[in-house]
Amino acid sequence: MNTLATRSVERLVRGMPTSDGAGVKLTRVIGQPQLADLDPFLMLDEFGTDNPGDYIAGFPDHPHRGFETVTYMLDGRMRHRDNHGHEGVLVPGSVQWMTAGRGIIHSEMPEQQEGRMRGFQLWINLPAREKMTAPRYQEFEPQRIPTVEVAAARVKVIAGTVEGVSGPIAQPATEPTYLDIELPPGAQFIHDLPAGHAGFVYVYEGAVGIGAGEIVTPVETHDLAVLGDTGAVHIEARTGAAPARLILVAGKPLREPVAKYGPFVMNTREELMQAFQDFQSGRF
Ligand code: FE
Repeated sequence: MNTLATRSVERLVRGMPTSDGAGVKLTRVIGQPQLADLDPFLMLDEFGTDNPGDYIAGFPDHPHRGFETVTYMLDGRMRHRDNHGHEGVLVPGSVQWMTAGRGIIHSEMPEQQEGRMRGFQLWINLPAREKMTAPRYQEFEPQRIPTVEVAAARVKVIAGTVEGVSGPIAQPATEPTYLDIELPPGAQFIHDLPAGHAGFVYVYEGAVGIGAGEIVTPVETHDLAVLGDTGAVHIEARTGAAPARLILVAGKPLREPVAKYGPFVMNTREELMQAFQDFQSGRF
């Protein structure tokens, strides 16, 4: 018997097919009409395709201000370049954590002509006091992401702590948890999240049930489950099927006004207009 409170699923959301950059096809899961945001998370895109035509045009130079972008690659290679002198190639299993802060201009271009490209990009908001911080770029090779086995579950810890093992990323403003979890059929994973943190599970392969006792919500491939805000999350992979693969993401809500337009996320409309002016006059 588990005495911890259990997080229920408050709602299920399906992503919306869209395209971004120079025509990259992707699925927008957070940051679309059904789920405009999930404070502190502003956007979640899943990209996944075997067709080069869906990704080959990439994301040429574009600006960001006021938040962080986290790119997690599952398959494929992507080259990042920015106007502050950072450059790197994301390979399968690697993570890029970019703090746009007061302004960055970067490109994210496929480093392959064929094959599968698959992964996620998550946008995490910054609090008002840090929106104009200096831009920062952190890249973590696959070996830098610890894997923890909890019973039959295999958990990659990108951010947060599992069984005393912490991921390489720390962000005191939002205290993010970011886990990539693989569960064989019927296997369970239970993880306590800090009280008050907003969280979600996104299933990218297979299917799971979330909850405990009489309230277990089935969550299918490409479903995002918005979690209740207290207690532990109980996840169980469906039996008699393929393994389930999912990400579990949580963070501390900022509870600040959000003024968002394209690649700029500030607190007020005036700050957004300033962002445009600063970008157009080359101050990024
Ligand atoms: Fe970008």
